[in-house]
Amino acid sequence: MLDRQNIKATFFIPGWVAEKYHKISKQIASRGHEIAHHGYLHEDCSNFSYEEEKHALTKGSEALGMVTGKTPRGLRLGPSKNTFKLLAEMGFLYESTLMDSDQPYRISVNSRPQHLIELPVSFAFNDTLYFVYTFGMSKPVLSPREVETIYRDEFDALYKEGRYCMYMLHPQIIGRASRLEMLERTIEYMKSRPGVWFTTAFELAKYCDETLNLES
Ligand SMILES: [Zn+2]
Repeated sequence: MLDRQNIKATFFIPGWVAEKYHKISKQIASRGHEIAHHGYLHEDCSNFSYEEEKHALTKGSEALGMVTGKTPRGLRLGPSKNTFKLLAEMGFLYESTLMDSDQPYRISVNSRPQHLIELPVSFAFNDTLYFVYTFGMSKPVLSPREVETIYRDEFDALYKEGRYCMYMLHPQIIGRASRLEMLERTIEYMKSRPGVWFTTAFELAKYCDETLNLES
């Protein structure tokens, strides 16, 4: 579907998964998509020490580097109080986990602005919330048509404000045929509006790093 729509996406893949499923991970990269860091074992770093987190990040980076030949520059993982400091030290360009804004912004460490961009996410664009009925959620699964309306409304409102959409989709959830058709209709709808840019998280972060005020 992404090939058909000529869209490059970002795939956040845990290092262990990239090692185990190296063929498909390589294939994703060779089709021009970005492969970004998702931990080594999808760790929750919130209670990790600085050293434990550094170890997990290094291991994940090495695994992705071995499989794709490229060092990842972006991270999505349960963060800790040390995450930004570590990412700045390790040469990352972006982080994408927080939910505190609907626009990318520059990250500061010890009040000093870094070449590090936060690309915030939102549950509004997360497929899990709508299509998964486990994890103790006592709510029905929504139909693709219902989610299409939510995605369109979110896009329309953000488009009007000149803002951005960060879809957070899981292949095993959005990959069902009816849902993928819904996503494609949504993409076609977005494409029908002038000036919409589809890009990878890395390209967006690069653009933000070049254009956002260093003081912000
Ligand atoms: Zn995940």
